[in-house]
Amino acid sequence: MKVLFVSSECYPLVKTGGLADVVGALPPALRGLGVEAHVLLPAYPGVLEQVEAQLAVARWHDLFGGSATLLTGVATTGARLFLLVAPHLFERAGGGPYIGPDGHDWPDNHLRFGALSRAAADIALGRVHWLYPDAVWRPDVVHLHDWQAALTAAYLHYDPRPGAPTSLLTIHNLAFQGQFPMSTARELGLPWEAERLDGLEFYGNLSFLKAGVSWCDHVSTVSPTYAAEIVTPEHGMGFDGLLRSRANSLTGIVNGIDDDLWNPGTDAALVPPYVHYSIRNFDGKAVNKRALQAELGLEQRDDVPLFCVVSRLTHQKGIDVLAQVMPMMAGRGAQFAVLGAGDRELEDGVRRVAENHPGRVSVTIGYDETLSHRMQAGSDAIVVPSRFEPCGLTQLYGLRYGTLPVVARVGGLADTVIDANPAAMASRAATGFLFHPVDADNLSHALHRACDLFADRDAWRSVQHCAMASDVGWSTAAAQYRDLYERIIRVRTH
Ligand code: ADP
Repeated sequence: MKVLFVSSECYPLVKTGGLADVVGALPPALRGLGVEAHVLLPAYPGVLEQVEAQLAVARWHDLFGGSATLLTGVATTGARLFLLVAPHLFERAGGGPYIGPDGHDWPDNHLRFGALSRAAADIALGRVHWLYPDAVWRPDVVHLHDWQAALTAAYLHYDPRPGAPTSLLTIHNLAFQGQFPMSTARELGLPWEAERLDGLEFYGNLSFLKAGVSWCDHVSTVSPTYAAEIVTPEHGMGFDGLLRSRANSLTGIVNGIDDDLWNPGTDAALVPPYVHYSIRNFDGKAVNKRALQAELGLEQRDDVPLFCVVSRLTHQKGIDVLAQVMPMMAGRGAQFAVLGAGDRELEDGVRRVAENHPGRVSVTIGYDETLSHRMQAGSDAIVVPSRFEPCGLTQLYGLRYGTLPVVARVGGLADTVIDANPAAMASRAATGFLFHPVDADNLSHALHRACDLFADRDAWRSVQHCAMASDVGWSTAAAQYRDLYERIIRVRTH
């Protein structure tokens, strides 16, 4: 079976969040199950240098204002790639895949990701001008990821052709919907019907995501709880009605994590004074705590719990609530290590807490992959106070590293962490701490519970053991995706 992943991010080439991790890890995991997955990705600056064995295989004379070339190549993770080289759209200095140097979205993001979607549809429909007979490649399934890829479904819908592949949209975060003024429809080469309510009209704008939700054969999201949440008005972000109408074609599959990259026994970020450790050889965890405390300027103490946060600093992630709670918990002796970047106001808020609590609270503003690994390896617990969380990855890394998750009971967090309540403790099933709803009282209550358990070394150790034994790799999810591809192909052909 051939599957074309269409995505604006793919680890390690370009990443702003969990989307990249999934698109980087799932295709190699699928290969072991007989699925040949290729990832179609824009060739942003810096991407080409990281890809081996590039070969031009197709060309467009005019893709929304300039010519474009399709290169094949292989990422260091083994992911097979189609890179869309379109200098007029993607070869720009800026702050990541979506924003320019001024910190604002590129004004032509509709064309940039419209082009990605157009190219995907052309590959899907066999409309590509392949440069060699050997290069011809047509997928059985197009697997679209988030709004940046979702317009592919519109191009397939408005150009029905026999032999078109089956389509799957995965929503990694419903908050990002790809909304643009209706006037962009013409620039995107969409027919006039696209401007109607039964087209892509969404509260007066044009929504890329709506194309995927309306017309993909199936829609999935990244946890069963989030799949149930997004059909409700509270979490549906305007899409709940449309998603309810697709309820029979909506599935939740929990993400896995890359077992090789996130393995405390082999983690490349753990160089001296950090050490490797495992469920059987656990002493290294204490060594890493001391190393992390030293690196971040925290008091070097074994007897107080060290909570870390690795997150975008946004309202979704509950960072305002965290900032409220940290001073009181630091007063109790707890330590915090925060790594993240995002909203200026929230960055300033957590920075102020660190200034007022030297030695107890450390805040690193920025994006630092190496430090994120060390924080997982050296902390006792990881805090994820998200207001909503489609799946969440950092709590899964926490489980793998024996860094107990303290998480809001929402979305994928609810599906992956088992609360250390008396029943779960008695049956040795507990892996972390859950709280709900997200407010300062509930978060501090959960943190106090964690502090209390931390004081009971044997009980804490037993929960760590259970956390590290959790199945968080990709093999289960990859098999579920393979089964889903097979199911939607069967449904289409019957
Ligand atoms: P989201 O995709 O909503 O940002 P996830 O928990 O699904 O949240 O994924 C976040 C990913 O980004 C994780 O791999 C996490 O380790 C990483 N990450 C987030 N912020 C930072 C940061 N400041 N530095 C390094 N890695 C980060």
